[in-house]
Parts: sequence; structure tokens; C-alpha cells
Amino acid sequence: MRPCDVAHRRAGATADAPAPVSHYGGQGGGGAPHCADADWPICWGSPATMMLPSPDPADVLGFVPPFAVDEPAQHSLPFVFNTGHSGAIYPPAFLAASRLQPLALRRSEDAYVDRLFGCVVPMGAPLLRANFPRAYLDVNREPYELDPRMFSGRLPPFANTRSMRVAGGLGTVPRVVADGQEIYGGRLDVEEAVERIERLYKPYHRALRALIQRTARTFGQCILIDCHSMPSSSLGREADPKADIVLGDRFGTACAPLLTERVEAAFRSRGFVVVRNKPYAGGFITEHYGEPNLARHALQIEINRGLYMNEASLAVTPGFGALAEALQDIVAEVAGDIGDLSPQRIAAE
Ligand SMILES: [Zn+2]
Repeated sequence: MRPCDVAHRRAGATADAPAPVSHYGGQGGGGAPHCADADWPICWGSPATMMLPSPDPADVLGFVPPFAVDEPAQHSLPFVFNTGHSGAIYPPAFLAASRLQPLALRRSEDAYVDRLFGCVVPMGAPLLRANFPRAYLDVNREPYELDPRMFSGRLPPFANTRSMRVAGGLGTVPRVVADGQEIYGGRLDVEEAVERIERLYKPYHRALRALIQRTARTFGQCILIDCHSMPSSSLGREADPKADIVLGDRFGTACAPLLTERVEAAFRSRGFVVVRNKPYAGGFITEHYGEPNLARHALQIEINRGLYMNEASLAVTPGFGALAEALQDIVAEVAGDIGDLSPQRIAAE
């Protein structure tokens, strides 16, 4: 069975969801899914990531389009949702440069997180989602966290080559996939990394920043929810019971504490085991965009993949539907009573 056949069959789970508007056209949102031909970017996963081969000018480095903003008919909630790690399009040139099989590359994805949070669009919040895969480019990093050992040629002098994430192989252009296997058989030209950053990373962050600014202008505040999923193994053997959800607010610095409290309570009341900031305190996006003193709040949500997918085969499991429903209820509950998160108002209460 071709990967897209699997995705088509799974597409029925969200087939009756209202079709969101996509800024970037293509086949985004709830439109009929199409499979790519063998000589075109191979696609997997959600219907939203399946594109027709086309000479569309939106083709950037083999991605048509590289990312999309699913816009609600009316932006009625002060929220922006982002999923930068659920992209599932693998251009042939990337597959050819990698020494890994596609399934091994795919294990770095936060698979289907765009679908799990797709409910927020009809509820009134925009969803920004990457189509390029995390193994190709990681938008939850600084723009130039790069490992000089990966590249032939000299990195720009401003590159951050010494971060813990670079040391671990998980820089802006990752060296390894989630289980530590090297992605590439040889060195990449440094121009290749710069091109991914200029043509994918920077436009992605421009889109995210624009959504945050628009939301803050409209509502007087913006609540960014950065959506991820984590391997169940990342929680360690001693974690008992294992966390279902890890909320990362950079130890209370990326959003008003009330937001973390409300989200945590909403998950707990539905039986989820919730942990804060360990082992994930929030990545670059949470840290960079979370400015609670400027009424810009950011919270990272990591979902245990064991709740909704088979982590070896990447097939969704029957838990997917219940989890998606719970997320919808949780967003509705939190959005319904979050109110104004400004320090003045919270202090007055
Ligand atoms: Zn992630």
C-alpha cells in the first residue's frame, strides 16, 4: 500500500469538519486530498499536507506550499495555534541526500498534531502548520543554530554553533533524527542550510509574527499555543505514571501563570497526567514569542504520542478520536473563561 492510500483512508476522521480557509492555497484545509506521483514530493499524513504536483510559484525547495495558515471564518478567540513539527512532505532531493529510510525520518515528526488541533479553526482561531518536515528544518530553533561539522564551507560568523541543541544534533538543520541516527551520508553545502533558513524558516516566522501581532491588535492580547507531541520513551523509565501532557511555559516566564494553571486544570479534570516544564520547558518559539508583560503569552503543549499513534509504524490508533475530542473541549473551556491575562487585571482579582 502506498503511504497516501493510508492517509486517504484515515482522512475520514475529520472529513466532516468545516473547510478552513488557507492563506497559501494549494490543497490545504478540508479540500479533497490528492496523491503525488512518484517523481514528486512524497506525501503522508493528513489530507491537509497532500498537494497536487504543480508548477505553482508557491513551490519552495520542493514544498507546495511550504506551510499554511488555516484561517477561521471569523477570528473570534485571542489565540494562535502553531504546529511546526507535523510537516510530512519529503522532497526527493532530501530523501536522496539522506542515508535513512523514510520511516526513520518520519519518526522525528510530531505526526498528526496538525490534525489533532485542526478543531481550533472552526472554533475561531488560526492554525499555522509547516508542510516541510522537522528532520529537514526545525523552526523551533534559533534561525542559525548550526553544527559546523555537518557542512562543507564556512558558516556565517553569527551562527550559534555552541548551543546544547546543536551539540545534541538537533539544530536548525538537524544532524540526527529522534532516535539519534545520522540523517545525512555526507556533508551538506553550507549554502543549502542558508537556503532553507532564508526560504522556509524566515517566511515561517514572519507568518507567525504577523498572526501574533494581528491577534494582539484585535484583542489586546495574544495567546500562542505551540503544539507538539513527544515520544513516550522520552519520559524515562522512572516516570510513573508517565505524563500524558507536558506543559512548557519556560518555568513561568513565557505566559501569565493563570494560563498554565487553567490549561493544566482542564487536562487534569479529564484524567490526563500533566507535568510542567520537565523534560520540555518550551523551545525557541515559546521563549521568543512569550512576552507576558506585553500581553503576548506563549505555552508549549507536548502530547504523549502513545495516546494516539503507534510509534513504530506511525499508524493512528483508536485513541486518536477521543484525544481530538478532548482537545476540542479543553480549548473551548480555556477560551471560555481565560479573559484578560494582563497583570493589572489579575492583580485586581
Ligand atoms: Zn515538536
